[in-house]
Amino acid sequence: MNTRRISKPVRIGDVVIGGDAPVVVQSMTCTDTRDAKATIDQVKELEEYGCELVRVAVPDAEAARAIVDIKKGISIPLVADIHFDYRLALASLESGADALRLNPGNIAEPEKVKAVALAAKERRAPIRIGLNAGSLPKTDNPDLTVAERMVAAALEQVRLLESLDFDLIKVSLKAFDVPTTIDAYQAIAEKIPYPLHIGVTEAGTPRAGVIRSAVGIGTLLSLGVGDTIRVSLTAHPREEVVAAWEILKSLDLRQRGPVLVSCPTCGRTEADVFTLAAQVEERLAKIDRPVKVAVMGCVVNGPGEAKDADVGIACGKGRGVIFKKGEKVAVVPEKDYLTALMKAVEELL
Ligand code: SF4
Repeated sequence: MNTRRISKPVRIGDVVIGGDAPVVVQSMTCTDTRDAKATIDQVKELEEYGCELVRVAVPDAEAARAIVDIKKGISIPLVADIHFDYRLALASLESGADALRLNPGNIAEPEKVKAVALAAKERRAPIRIGLNAGSLPKTDNPDLTVAERMVAAALEQVRLLESLDFDLIKVSLKAFDVPTTIDAYQAIAEKIPYPLHIGVTEAGTPRAGVIRSAVGIGTLLSLGVGDTIRVSLTAHPREEVVAAWEILKSLDLRQRGPVLVSCPTCGRTEADVFTLAAQVEERLAKIDRPVKVAVMGCVVNGPGEAKDADVGIACGKGRGVIFKKGEKVAVVPEKDYLTALMKAVEELL
């Protein structure tokens, strides 16, 4: 792991992004923002899974107004996602949004960008310059790579905000293509002092999207680049939060909740370990205290292979062994595998 790039931190509500603050997990709601109750319910669920910062789309004035009610019902800071219409940015700030995500370059007149920067500065609300590879401004230079075009466009927008004496800046440069994403972030990291929101955009459905995101985000984090992450999936956003935490835990950057160790199974397996592991994973998902839990497919090798687990089960033929730190503590019948293991986890916590 490379040493982390130390950026100029910004504060969004009570969450610090950048500097030496922990890498922050964020996601975006998929509810209609105008439906405040549905949005609050979804954000609360995301909070349970460990989401620390949430973004909501603001497509019209009604959505901007709904932020007032949404803010009352949630505990984590809210970022308003704006496209083109500077009035929605102003209205969202008025409603209490803690930060904005927009492309100043999409707001044509300098006076309008100035109005947004002024209002954001008054409220100490950071602005994320959020560029996507699919919507870059035209270039006169056909030799530039996509990553180079992203960096050039981001720098232009950073300079625009700086010229307005605004420095509560965060930047993202997302592409679907993972090497392009990595190149773009590495390049911008050397050119600006601001924190970076990293992710692979439109990464896909969970099966491929989690892998694309883990490779892209994981590579950047291991290079020391990145202050907040969003895994972008075609799925309920709780899956994004779960995946984001798994990435951070895999790199030992942060710890939250359980780690599940489960064996791939082999010819020695005599139980339905796939189903059991999935059920255990589901039960562990909302626990926020660290504990290492193992689900193993045989009693011969299971306890030994998972001896660093705090607690685990090794499934035999009709009977399984509950073990703690590799030591057998109980034998349970197959019908009780799930309940016995979860009881052992609860006792430990
Ligand atoms: Fe096979 Fe047992 Fe190892 Fe699982 S723990 S992979 S069942 S030897």
